[in-house]
Amino acid sequence: MSEDLFDQTVAQMSETSVAEKPVRVYPCPRCKQPMRRIVGKMGPFWGCSAYPTCEERLYDIDGKPSETPDERFRCPVCTRPMVKADGNYWYCTGYNKGCKVTLTDQDGKPAKAFRCPTCGHLLKQRRGKAGVFWGCSQYPLCTVSFADQDGQPKFQTIDRKKAREKQRTDK
Ligand SMILES: [Zn+2]
Ligand SMILES: [Zn+2]
Ligand SMILES: [Zn+2]
Repeated sequence: MSEDLFDQTVAQMSETSVAEKPVRVYPCPRCKQPMRRIVGKMGPFWGCSAYPTCEERLYDIDGKPSETPDERFRCPVCTRPMVKADGNYWYCTGYNKGCKVTLTDQDGKPAKAFRCPTCGHLLKQRRGKAGVFWGCSQYPLCTVSFADQDGQPKFQTIDRKKAREKQRTDK
């Protein structure tokens, strides 16, 4: 009967959901001790439970340890991989190398970022007296700013100028 089949499916379904519950043990790639998920200041990561004897550290990707950071999203400034931190933002794995780029999380992805064409740092959406505009994150060191168009900096005027310059140098 189809009713039996239905019961069976339900039983199977609840079985799988139970099977997901036990916490998986991820052994340390160096000393085989279990890894622990630690939520640090810079977001979650995995540390070896034998710490400080073993200082192995792994990145956290979707709650699992990984030896390589999430390669899907790269820093718009230095192109190093971005890592998601707790608190719905992404930070650059070049943080210790001096890249302080952080991006807000948008549906599990780092929010679209725009680079300053003058200094290469990120532009930030700001609200001024005349409305929303994009200013360089290095302000006041860099005073570049652009008008906002549909939530993006309006680069057109610069692009056109660049294109004209390119044409000239190509000839
Ligand atoms: Zn270890
Ligand atoms: Zn970076
Ligand atoms: Zn700039």
